[in-house]
Amino acid sequence: MKVALTTLGCKVNQFETETMEGLFKQRGYEVVPFEARADVYVINTCSVTSLGDRKSRQIIRRAHRENPQAIVAVCGCYAQVAPDEIKAIEGVRVVLGTKERAHIVDYVEKAMQEDGIQGTITDIMKAKTFEDIPLYDSPERTRAFLKIEDGCQNFCSYCIIPYARGPVKSRLPEHVHREAEKLVAMGFKEIVLTGIHLGAYGRDLPGDITLADACREVLSVPGLKRLRLGSLESIELSPELFALIREDERFCAHLHLPLQAGSDKVLKDMNRHYDTQEFARLIEHIEEEVPGVAISTDIIVGFPGETEEDFEQGLSFVEKMNFARMHVFPYSRRTGTPAAARKDQVDEAVKKERVHRMQALADRKAEEFHRSFIGREMRVLFETAKDGITDGLTDNYIRVYTDEAVDCGEIYKVQIDKLWRDGVWAHCVH
Ligand code: SF4
Repeated sequence: MKVALTTLGCKVNQFETETMEGLFKQRGYEVVPFEARADVYVINTCSVTSLGDRKSRQIIRRAHRENPQAIVAVCGCYAQVAPDEIKAIEGVRVVLGTKERAHIVDYVEKAMQEDGIQGTITDIMKAKTFEDIPLYDSPERTRAFLKIEDGCQNFCSYCIIPYARGPVKSRLPEHVHREAEKLVAMGFKEIVLTGIHLGAYGRDLPGDITLADACREVLSVPGLKRLRLGSLESIELSPELFALIREDERFCAHLHLPLQAGSDKVLKDMNRHYDTQEFARLIEHIEEEVPGVAISTDIIVGFPGETEEDFEQGLSFVEKMNFARMHVFPYSRRTGTPAAARKDQVDEAVKKERVHRMQALADRKAEEFHRSFIGREMRVLFETAKDGITDGLTDNYIRVYTDEAVDCGEIYKVQIDKLWRDGVWAHCVH
């Protein structure tokens, strides 16, 4: 039997698809590319934006067209929040949400025997434990993502995720250690810890367990070369975590801290729990504690009620920050969230124009950051090779390109020569 899997959305989803891939392999299925003809198609959906929903629907239809006899199984955030929309799409035979994926193969095999749509959507608000699916074999990448947390109860007013993923659920520290050991034994040099609300790791566990404890578990695995953290809320960074980043050179000097808006009024409306002054103070503190640290961020533009003045305040705030990389998104209206119900939605054309302006600033900031490393020596984990050029990442998240003979999955010392595409060009230092 052949199974093909695909993922939309974030790193957590990518990780979950890899674990489901392992479950199918364990049961003797052959995993084929998503474009190939398969007996089972699994689509792990995203619902963060309306574009995510649309793309999910398109991919489901494409899978059914590719092989109308195939079992099409749909899971993930979009399936969790709108199962009936998914069930209405022709060809869908299994619908699961953000839980129950540990049993996906059983549901698929039931669908092979019986008519109708199989699957179950759990009441995610009642899900209290982390769905711990051990990794079965090596994911096809050079950096390994390791999911240690699921769920969020911050309820930012624009975000559908708390409704799709439920409350915070953390992986037990000893299981984090077990999975990290496996990944290092598979040959991975870098592990990226991911979660939906990573900074909340441990809140649901007995004792005073925090993200720093999970990091220590991973760092205690012999042979690990790099540890990186996924997206975190700035206000949740602890002195313990700073100490680890500063003292263990395997800890990447890179933090992704979503700002979301550079206007205090908009931050308040978004139900974010900080203002711009507090965010700036935190960043200043991190830069003092971890010299050379790269801070990347996310910005949403065109949130309901955002005036031209609010947006310009945002631009001037971002101008003052040393962001190494920014992901700029237009606000996307998610049914069921407080922001979606607001009457003062921003016109799509205005949003588009603001994305353009914020993106131009983001590109300039990234270039400034990259330029400041020209002439410096850095260590790079190379990842992909194409047309004689190989690229990879420094520990502070600069993409480095070279035409020298380097192996993907290995770390090299390089000297940065010049700006190149979205990063820099470098040569190896032997
Ligand atoms: S912190 Fe806010 S934006 Fe992030 S997942 Fe939770 S509700 Fe969504």
